[in-house]
Amino acid sequence: MQKEMYFGVGVSPLSYEEILADLDNRMKEGKKSTIIAVNPEKVMAAEKNEQLRELINNSTYGIADGVGILLASKLKKGQVTSRVTGVDMMDRLLQFAAEKGYRVFMYGAKEEVVSTAVKKIEEKYPNIIIAGYENGYVQDPKQVVDKINAAKADLLFVAMGSPKQELWIREHMDSLSAKVYQGVGGSFDVFAGHVKRAPAFYRKLGLEWFYRLMKEPKRLKRQMALPKFLLKVVRSK
Ligand code: UDP
Repeated sequence: MQKEMYFGVGVSPLSYEEILADLDNRMKEGKKSTIIAVNPEKVMAAEKNEQLRELINNSTYGIADGVGILLASKLKKGQVTSRVTGVDMMDRLLQFAAEKGYRVFMYGAKEEVVSTAVKKIEEKYPNIIIAGYENGYVQDPKQVVDKINAAKADLLFVAMGSPKQELWIREHMDSLSAKVYQGVGGSFDVFAGHVKRAPAFYRKLGLEWFYRLMKEPKRLKRQMALPKFLLKVVRSK
């Protein structure tokens, strides 16, 4: 699958629907797939960190999370036409699992957060099979791997922050029988209703970053990656 490169980091220029269709085929062929969210902060970090770069590039799908990649693609006249956010990708995958009868396992976040997220998801998608869950503070990985396999999970969501969750997936994927793996950061907190996303107004205008900055001014340091990244894209043209 063709990826669009940003300073050595690959982004898949696919929509939610295209990813789901491709995943469905890969699942039927018995192939394992991994989904990783790519944003300017990660691209800038990966440029200096080969391990992170490989981790992203070895994923089946590097989704264009955040408005930065979308703007960069427009500047480069690339193929990315919309954002594909981690939390929305997870939501689409949940809907997909409910429709197809695939089994879901959720691993990560605090016990209260993950159990509430499971409940809310079961209310939203009454047909869904949440085959099991585990909080992200269990120390023994073997115990978690055995629990996921015993649940016969097809889709696994890991919410422990990046890159911890992706490293965990890479380390244990060979011992797991699940077919689809996504690292979803703080998404369980969003599904549980503990963290609110920006209102639709900001999201539509691509200003989610601005809303989050107002709520949490200390994010400024992290968000400086966005203008730096765009400047670099312009210069490299
Ligand atoms: N978390 C966890 N285990 C850990 C560290 C973090 O389960 O050892 C969880 C934490 O409770 C929270 C999520 O990982 O639910 C952190 O998400 P964050 O927003 O930091 O991730 P990002 O989206 O920024 O990568």
